[in-house]
Amino acid sequence: MRTGFIGLGNMGGPMAANLAAGGHTVSGFDTAGVDIEGVTRVDDVAAAVEGMDVVITMLPDGRVLRSVYDEIVPRGTPGALFLDCSTVDTDSAMAAHRQAAAAGLLSIDAPVSGGVGGAKAGTLTFMAGGTPEAFERATPVLDIMGARVVHCGDGGAGQAAKICNNMLLGISMIGTCEAFALGEKLGLAPERLFEVLSISSGSCWSVNTYCPVPGVGPESPADNAYTPGFAAELMLKDLRLSQGAAKGVDANTPLGHAAAALYARFVDGDGAGKDFSAMLPLLAASAREQADD
Ligand code: NAD
Repeated sequence: MRTGFIGLGNMGGPMAANLAAGGHTVSGFDTAGVDIEGVTRVDDVAAAVEGMDVVITMLPDGRVLRSVYDEIVPRGTPGALFLDCSTVDTDSAMAAHRQAAAAGLLSIDAPVSGGVGGAKAGTLTFMAGGTPEAFERATPVLDIMGARVVHCGDGGAGQAAKICNNMLLGISMIGTCEAFALGEKLGLAPERLFEVLSISSGSCWSVNTYCPVPGVGPESPADNAYTPGFAAELMLKDLRLSQGAAKGVDANTPLGHAAAALYARFVDGDGAGKDFSAMLPLLAASAREQADD
């Protein structure tokens, strides 16, 4: 399988390396000029597209995706599969699908969950949107880079699932941090609170797997001075995508809206560059702000 890979950053680099290790002949392009083991570096985007069976993009946002698609779609081999794994707004995802279909290409939006660790280990979860035919073609490719692939529906459905998941994650992380900050002020040992929460109805991924308290629960970025992990800026990006999408379809998301506002404050303050679970020290150090009745 001849595969072009565009966007070899923190996620795309290891994903491309896994594809090469999995038997694909991979040509990689990144504007930053990155070398990845097993991947042939090409220095213009055309060389990552022309004659390829599959073209994968892993880019920062919808604006970049649109400009890259303007360059690559006209160069695609009819019948080739275009697979976008970036997290982007649903409008950009839909525009990419329309552009690809008009050029006779198969297309899938397949954003991921699992972070850099999952990208390196090949254990990502892919949430895919596109036609059954495109999904069938994409599955063996996604299987090399991930552990789970869910076909969520037509084009754009993968991005929709991703922003719903990450809106819930942002809310649940804030809730987890609030519970530990309140517990501390009530005199509870965080180890005991973890023991209770992790086996009770408050249990969730943010508590059980990614506990924001240093030294408590399985190893997480909290144990590494909140070095990401999943950076607060990326959580803010996804929360903003969720709110843009919610506005577009008139969905009521009061907690998603509050989570976006809280992460915006956090990133504007000293949260930039930290893991998104560093919301805990911020909340723990601040005084009550709610106007009580
Ligand atoms: P990154 O910034 O490390 O990588 C993006 C890469 O794209 C960079 O190397 C950049 O040079 C390259 N690039 C930018 N414009 C380009 C262009 N026009 N042509 C070619 N290359 C170009 O970001 P990342 O962490 O790898 O994330 C990529 C995507 O995956 C984002 O949409 C992000 O939201 C999503 N994501 C990231 C994580 C994570 O934990 N990092 C988790 C899930 C999803």
